[in-house]
Amino acid sequence: MAAAGCIETIAGLRAELDAARARGASIGFVPTMGALHEGHLALIRAARERDDVVVVSIFVNPTQFNASEDLQKYPRDLARDLALAEGAGADLVFAPPAGEMYLPGASTWVDVEGLTEGLCGAARPGHFRGVCTVVTKLFNIVGPHRAYFGEKDAQQLAVIKRMVRDLDMRVEIVPCATVREPDGLAMSSRNVRLSPAERAQAPVLYRALTAARLAIENGERDAERPKADICAALADADLATIDYVEIVDADSLEPVTTVDRPCLIALAVFFGDVRLIDNITV
Ligand code: AMP
Repeated sequence: MAAAGCIETIAGLRAELDAARARGASIGFVPTMGALHEGHLALIRAARERDDVVVVSIFVNPTQFNASEDLQKYPRDLARDLALAEGAGADLVFAPPAGEMYLPGASTWVDVEGLTEGLCGAARPGHFRGVCTVVTKLFNIVGPHRAYFGEKDAQQLAVIKRMVRDLDMRVEIVPCATVREPDGLAMSSRNVRLSPAERAQAPVLYRALTAARLAIENGERDAERPKADICAALADADLATIDYVEIVDADSLEPVTTVDRPCLIALAVFFGDVRLIDNITV
């Protein structure tokens, strides 16, 4: 296909994709909230390599933000996103208005228990319920063979995999590595909201994570010490406020006291009202 077409209606997208499926094409899907950056583009390129038709959704999903969060401040620039998505290989961009996705009286939710209780789930009540519901709706609309998700949002990836398994959804979830700025800061649509001083301090997240990983690779088994070291490094960044720093089992996302199996070191830190997350596996 030539230029990436932008489609705003469910019926319009389904018509395109029914035709693609009828000719035997595989459909790769990259769900996003827009404000695209190299992290998103890596997902689109991964889909382009494996699938015949690449669909990108751009939808700032209101149900995954709670009242005090940054829904209104979330950056939006559809024209720029369309050009970037097309440049990375998207065939179709689905950018529905909120009213197309949520009809008045919508009252059905998809809730994954357990995995959503800690980490970001504890700090953002209802967040994963909103994510799982919108991703289920998008899967039902797109009908993808494969869907691509970033490891930057490690808990989201684990929750989506569990949801797909538990609800027998017919889609393969493809994880993609976190894309970082040259100084290590994980790319995020929220980074543009950092002040220059906050942006200068933000690489401390990845520096602290890599130092903790090194300590564990060098034999540290007690989870508390690397956690304390990360907190100390973050305390040196005077604009950073810790939301959480955790070392959790990579599968269950349960906190560990001893690092004796594959684990995730995960953190969330506020700079002003901008909440950044990052993680690393050990
Ligand atoms: P978002 O637009 O933030 O909802 O993210 C859409 C998708 O892009 C999710 O699967 C994210 O995990 C993924 N993503 C966001 N930032 C990055 C990054 N820096 N590296 C890799 N994937 C990312």
